[in-house]
Amino acid sequence: MSEHSAGNGQGVNGQGIGQGVNGQAGVLTSAAAARGPLAMEALSLSKDFKIGRGQTLHAVRDVSFNLYRGAVVALVGESGSGKSTAARLLAGQERLTSGSIKLDGKPVEVTGRNDFRRYKSEVQYVFQDPFASLNPVHTVRYSLERPIKLHQGKIADMDAEVTALMEQVRLTPARQFLAKYPHELSGGQRQRVSFARALAAKPSVLLADEPVSMLDVSIRLEMLSLLDDLRQRFRLAMLYITHDIASARYFADEILVMYAGEIVERGPAEEITQQPAHPYTQLLVASAPDPDNLGSVLRGRGASGAGSLGPAKPRLTGQVATTGCPFAPRCPLAEDRCRAEDPALMPITDTRGAACWRLDVAVPELVSGRPGRATTR
Ligand code: ADP
Ligand code: MG
Repeated sequence: MSEHSAGNGQGVNGQGIGQGVNGQAGVLTSAAAARGPLAMEALSLSKDFKIGRGQTLHAVRDVSFNLYRGAVVALVGESGSGKSTAARLLAGQERLTSGSIKLDGKPVEVTGRNDFRRYKSEVQYVFQDPFASLNPVHTVRYSLERPIKLHQGKIADMDAEVTALMEQVRLTPARQFLAKYPHELSGGQRQRVSFARALAAKPSVLLADEPVSMLDVSIRLEMLSLLDDLRQRFRLAMLYITHDIASARYFADEILVMYAGEIVERGPAEEITQQPAHPYTQLLVASAPDPDNLGSVLRGRGASGAGSLGPAKPRLTGQVATTGCPFAPRCPLAEDRCRAEDPALMPITDTRGAACWRLDVAVPELVSGRPGRATTR
């Protein structure tokens, strides 16, 4: 465990609430838990990258959360905050520096090819760029038949199976699309094919990494509503990764706000977007267009999302430094303590917490009168 994350585990005011790391185990209840049974647990995940000159980049630090069947958890943060690295860790595409993952209560140990195939039949990863995920030399039919054979074995009626997948992602009439190559499809159609391909494995967990960020703004809402439909129909446990907190409010049960590799705030999507507690979340929400008017939000903005945050983006500083709150260099409320000690996630309610020493100033209405909270010092 890094020096940094060891500091993170100390808890609030020495009360030791940090043992759950980022406030999950035994401390906070996920706002997504009511939707369905627990599917996947990310337990204190950390990922370091060596970046030369003896420096280490802490891309993901002590990140814990749960995914539940039929629920969406959103991982929100600006570019470089560690969202994709977290997803790749969960997808088994990147080795953990420390921490562990459980699927249906069992520790995940992917060592060989067969293990990985079995794991992939439960956990599917869809990412931003469908061009990168679909092989340009294969037709849509091939791209779908292959995972069906791989994950489901021999199928009596392959045509019916492929057609059903196409209908699930609303690419109809299926016949018209099956013979096409990726370059013959629009961006939205390609992304539908990559959703269909993920569904071919009949997964319980879907990791959707910025699934609409590269699509034309005019179709983002429609694609999110398709994902929502798939979530419901297949009771998928979904991780929705985005830099757009407005879309997370629309789509997710729980929001995890990530900054420089750490979860700095978490809680029910509605509460977080209505009354953000962490100064970083406050900035994110303030720079997002009116969240009550999401339709126009999704239609009316470019792909840059939260890019209107303050000019400085010291994400490297934040991820390489080992002391202090990673947001301190950008935080309007930072004081000496923030630069010296990294705060653990402090509970605000039983489903909500934020990692900030200045919550008493940032959101006095949320934390005042709560003994043992961040206000006591
Ligand atoms: P996000 O998805 O939130 O934009 P990433 O997880 O892609 O963020 O990246 C988090 C940080 O880790 C970034 O600073 C990125 O440059 C760094 N990073 C990601 N992958 C590697 C790698 N293989 N080697 C070194 N640094 C990496
Ligand atoms: Mg990413």
